Amino acid sequence: MDAAETQTRTANLILLGPPGAGKGTQARLLVDARGLTQLSTGDLLRAAVAAGTPAGLAAKAVMARGELVSDDIVVAIVDERLATETGGAGVIFDGFPRTAAQAAALDALLEKHGMTLDAVVSLDVDDQAMADRVSGRFTCAGCGEGYHDAHKPTAQAGVCDKCGGHDFKRRADDNAETVKERLSAYHAETAPLIAHYEAAGKLRRVDAMADIDDVAAAVKAAIGRP
Ligand code: AMP
Repeated sequence: MDAAETQTRTANLILLGPPGAGKGTQARLLVDARGLTQLSTGDLLRAAVAAGTPAGLAAKAVMARGELVSDDIVVAIVDERLATETGGAGVIFDGFPRTAAQAAALDALLEKHGMTLDAVVSLDVDDQAMADRVSGRFTCAGCGEGYHDAHKPTAQAGVCDKCGGHDFKRRADDNAETVKERLSAYHAETAPLIAHYEAAGKLRRVDAMADIDDVAAAVKAAIGRP
């Protein structure tokens, strides 16, 4: 497929929002509903840490502190990941870009890989509620489905609704101290991207304090039918 054909067929999106806003949850729902591919830099970095790659070794302590991993490392893993994209329904950038430099790098990467940016969805949330959301969350170790102790428990205790698995995990950086640092990194480095994409005419705002299904409907309405 050539670049022009790829452009007409793809719907590439950025999900923007602080930790706990529901970027991963909404990305997974869009993957199921629309066949898009989720590209989460947090997931890619955690995989790099687990695999002990040079990028993972460099990122590990930074992530544990809740700070941002350096732009060059993050941009390199996104570039590597996009190189394996086969021009499907489109890519959801989840947790990337997080800095002005990453936003500029993304423009260059999209051009390099023959892709366009269709929309940036800002998941708007109340800061106070985020620490609570993040500290209660956990995922199925088998299929990656996300849950929350209070807001989205499993239907049957200890059993994944989606795959029936019994093994769950909680992220090491989902603790009160680190979440504080992650929220402050978001406000300092990432929140300014909202104005950047608004000026570019790409921004769609969604109230992400509502129930997961209502947010999902609002996200779909915001991006339209690709
Ligand atoms: P997330 O899973 O998106 O919450 O990311 C978890 C952690 O990975 C963050 O707190 C950062 O340390 C790191 N990280 C993920 N994405 C990025 C990014 N785009 N730029 C810098 N650091 C990132």
